[in-house]
Amino acid sequence: MGTDQADIVVGIDLGTTNSLIAYVDGDTPKVLADTDGNLLVPSVVSFAEGKLLTGIDAKEHWVERAESTVYSIKRFMGRDSNEVGEDREYLPFAFEEDENRLIHIQLGSKTYTPPELSAMILRELKQRAEKHFGRPVNKAVITVPAYFNDTQRQATKDAGKIAGWDVLRIVNEPTAAALAYGLDRKEKQTVAVYDLGGGTFDISILKLSEGIFRVLATGGDTHLGGDDFDRQLMKYFAEKISAAGVSGPMDDPRAIQLLRQEAERVKIALSANSTANFLLTLPGKPEISGTISRDEFEEMIRPIAQRTAGPCKQALADAKLTPEDIDAVVLVGGSTRMPLIRELTERIFGQKPYTDLNPDEVVALGAAVQADILGGSRRDTLLLDVIPLSLGIETMGGVFSRLIHRNTTIPTSAQEMFTTFVDGQTSVDFHVLQGERELAADNRTLARFKLTGIPPLPAGIPRIAVQLMIDADGILQVKAQETRSKVEQSIEIRPSSGLTKDEVERMIDDSFDHAEEDFLARQTAEAITEAKSIIHAVEKSLRKNEDLISEAKRAMIASSMERLKKTMTDKDHGAIRDAIDHLDKVTHDVAEKILNRALHEAIKDTSVTGNQSAIE
Ligand code: AMP
Repeated sequence: MGTDQADIVVGIDLGTTNSLIAYVDGDTPKVLADTDGNLLVPSVVSFAEGKLLTGIDAKEHWVERAESTVYSIKRFMGRDSNEVGEDREYLPFAFEEDENRLIHIQLGSKTYTPPELSAMILRELKQRAEKHFGRPVNKAVITVPAYFNDTQRQATKDAGKIAGWDVLRIVNEPTAAALAYGLDRKEKQTVAVYDLGGGTFDISILKLSEGIFRVLATGGDTHLGGDDFDRQLMKYFAEKISAAGVSGPMDDPRAIQLLRQEAERVKIALSANSTANFLLTLPGKPEISGTISRDEFEEMIRPIAQRTAGPCKQALADAKLTPEDIDAVVLVGGSTRMPLIRELTERIFGQKPYTDLNPDEVVALGAAVQADILGGSRRDTLLLDVIPLSLGIETMGGVFSRLIHRNTTIPTSAQEMFTTFVDGQTSVDFHVLQGERELAADNRTLARFKLTGIPPLPAGIPRIAVQLMIDADGILQVKAQETRSKVEQSIEIRPSSGLTKDEVERMIDDSFDHAEEDFLARQTAEAITEAKSIIHAVEKSLRKNEDLISEAKRAMIASSMERLKKTMTDKDHGAIRDAIDHLDKVTHDVAEKILNRALHEAIKDTSVTGNQSAIE
């Protein structure tokens, strides 16, 4: 790779708990260690002794300076205080919100945003690299979870910039893991990346063909991981303690902490051995010791481990694949060292998983491979990812019009034509959303903007091209242009807040739960929009051609319009369609041919048809 003067590009795994920096040495990706040989930089920032500390130095102050030590900052990147939800428990330190509800964390006399705090970790990694290479190192690739939305990716990129990095690309963690195994150099194949860490589970399906590397689907569970296995062992220990007649261990926080540590130690020992001894030393209580077998342990954690199977099946279904289509399975995350997890993945995907690389380092190693590609040594590989939720805009009647569907590979773009609803309309408000529901109100607003300066023309005449473009980092640009006058407006979306993976999952689940009612609501909204525009056109024609229509006919049309208006208030789309048909019939033979034609021209012009929807 380019360790010459021209270009050093490094790969960074900016983790929730620990971060790593790696580069490709010759042909081999390597994680950079500090002078003491530590590979991991704890993702921790602390204010102590009048200064800010990061990494190992900060972690040392974790316990005695809990109130001024910040960890798990990745959970807050690109999210506002509303969206933090149950992750609030990870935020025991003081924080403020600004007018956009963005979090500012107090450390010493100053406050810092999550990107600024992440930047401190990224700066430590930068110093590590510069020490290693003995010269400035500015270019980096940073990994993020595949489910990170635009805002979270942008926040990560911002953190890189603040730290002085030129962030060449934001890469999905599973994509990096597959790269670490060199799977991009293989023949055409499909890969499953199974990532089980301490607190979260992620599954991704990637497809590699002819040098093109794509993420087909992602899924997982944000509350499933090694901590759950530890908890099962803690329960087992608690039973042993109570069987020994020792009372109340679970009420004492110190005792719980000791049980947790012993549980994790025993769990890790059982990954390598078929039995493990445990020793429970609780403050002021008699010691309790015993032995547990791997079989016993596996029995108690099997139901939890098996919960990873569901998201795997769902991701396969989303990718329209079966387990037989998977050519390689890659394991990431400390918990995948467990034999039970290896067996389980083997059963789910019908093959032995790749386990040669250290599951804690594999993402950083892959980031280094990507850095190497971008550094210019391997131009044959292009990395692509997918968007987690559909993107689109609101059209008349509050309908969500999808332009890009979820799980579409990025970079991508889509364009659709829209028009105006009212005669002489010179501006259009755009409402950009993401989500899976049929009505805009049920989805999530990303941005609103206005296209002004549209020439005043009859409704339905202006042609407004709306284009959505997502770059390789998942950052969205929306452009609207009136094609005759060429007036245009564009916006880069950096919404003030992001979404958690749980919320993404919930939004997808909601769309299934509400599929039927959403379908009806959309049909109704569309019928009402059409009815409104027809009433508008008929009223206009009646006014213009007053002398040509008999009283009797006018009364018939009026009563037909009343009927249509009533069905609109009743919100019954079948009745609305019938009433539209009725009005259509009643107006058919109105007066002479010329009036008839004029009337129908008007109806046609303002009707909402096909992919040319109207926007208010
Ligand atoms: P990660 O979030 O990827 O760093 O994974 C951390 C989780 O992996 C923690 O729950 C650890 O207890 C767990 N872990 C690490 N090594 C092992 C091992 N050898 N066997 C079982 N679990 C492990």
